[in-house]
Amino acid sequence: MFFFIGGVQPKTVKLDENPRTCPECGHSELYIKRTDSYLSLFFIPLFPVKKGIPFMVCENCGSVFTQDGTSMDGFSGYRAQKCPHCGRSVGTDFVYCPYCGKSL
Ligand SMILES: [Zn+2]
Ligand SMILES: [Zn+2]
Repeated sequence: MFFFIGGVQPKTVKLDENPRTCPECGHSELYIKRTDSYLSLFFIPLFPVKKGIPFMVCENCGSVFTQDGTSMDGFSGYRAQKCPHCGRSVGTDFVYCPYCGKSL
């Protein structure tokens, strides 16, 4: 019996070592991170299949910001596009609309 143990795994990488200050609460240990999706086989990440958007999360107040310090209104609402078929807002990284299933 052969099992193909593969899939896509998220991997969060820190992009730089310079701490930023949280615009929300003044906490000064924010680092720019990015969550990339890796195609993995036998739990070993082989290559990135999708590069994430750089972001910063404040461990103190939980706010999420983009690289330049603007607040992100949750990941799903960020850089949303409108589905031409059902009109709902969908993240730009979607190829198919999660609501109506049509190609974007
Ligand atoms: Zn904060
Ligand atoms: Zn749709």
